[in-house]
Amino acid sequence: MAKSLTIRKGDKVHVIAGKDKGKDGRVLRAYPFKERVTVEGVSMIKKATRPSTKNQQGGIMTIEGTIHVSNVMLICPSCAQPTRVGKRREGGTRVRVCKKCGKDIDK
Ligand SMILES: [Zn+2]
Repeated sequence: MAKSLTIRKGDKVHVIAGKDKGKDGRVLRAYPFKERVTVEGVSMIKKATRPSTKNQQGGIMTIEGTIHVSNVMLICPSCAQPTRVGKRREGGTRVRVCKKCGKDIDK
């Protein structure tokens, strides 16, 4: 069974641990099975690439590496604070709720 993360693609998150601690960024991809996410500008890694039709030179590219979801906190769109996420059911769907201001995160 796939686990569902409280962090999803497109969310704004605050990094609370690791070398990019303190940074904010948007989630580019979520990997529920690994419980990891890639966040814009966070955990950058250098990757060697071979020459291709797209990139004729090849060489070193800098891309976002993954970061464990426990190292980030969701930034609530309502109160703009990094927060823990609660959940409530509404007509069969789960709605994420900010534990700080109590407002819905998913509209
Ligand atoms: Zn909030």
